[in-house]
Amino acid sequence: MSYSSVIAIDGPSGSGKSTVAKSLATELGILYIDTGAMFRALGYMANERGIDLTDESAVESFLSSIKLEYQSSKDSLISIDGEDLSGKIREHHVSKLASIISQIPCVRTYLLEFQRNLANSKVCVMEGRDIGTVVFPSAFCKFFVTASIEVRAQRRFDQLVEKGQGDVDLEQLRKDVKKRDDKDMGREVAPLKCADDAELVDTSEMELDSVISYLKNKVSNRASEIGISL
Ligand code: C5P
Repeated sequence: MSYSSVIAIDGPSGSGKSTVAKSLATELGILYIDTGAMFRALGYMANERGIDLTDESAVESFLSSIKLEYQSSKDSLISIDGEDLSGKIREHHVSKLASIISQIPCVRTYLLEFQRNLANSKVCVMEGRDIGTVVFPSAFCKFFVTASIEVRAQRRFDQLVEKGQGDVDLEQLRKDVKKRDDKDMGREVAPLKCADDAELVDTSEMELDSVISYLKNKVSNRASEIGISL
């Protein structure tokens, strides 16, 4: 079996997977690819441009008219037609737009190609919902990072407070997270699920630092086992 040099980290929102994926990439000195940012950027911009998200052909022409760019640097992570969207896509209301647009088949096809081109045989950490199952089923290392719904809602809440967007109700946030999970898990195309060969990591009771060192260890062992140099 030949493996692609991608470390796939999937899981639901608030599981800690972004923190873990980002830190893992930094510690290993490799590229970090946040696929959620791509769905967020498309959802945000389509909405800004008044695209009807229930009209697939309108979404398709929107996709063919834009230039999406992704850079794994601190200055600009994601942009569309030259506009840096890295900050705007983190606003709470954009989560919902991302979730809606991610159900549309042409959006998934568009981003599938974009994500595969971006990784382009590089050793990288790619984070999302369907990386180990659809985007890179041959990833050499796969993790499915999760946590209980309560822990995840609390983490999302803490993040929003930290960004000064704490005017949300925790219980409402829990409902939103649950609704988004159900949509992600229930959609027909590329649903959120743990790949058969992924390791399930439950972070509910773990400090994220320990999760990171655990994964780092696993990745290093696996890389030397199959001859991938990090
Ligand atoms: O990971 P993040 O919360 O930024 O993702 C935002 C939304 O984008 C998710 O709720 C999900 O609907 C969608 N998404 C997806 N597939 C991915 C990454 C994100 O459907 N690989």
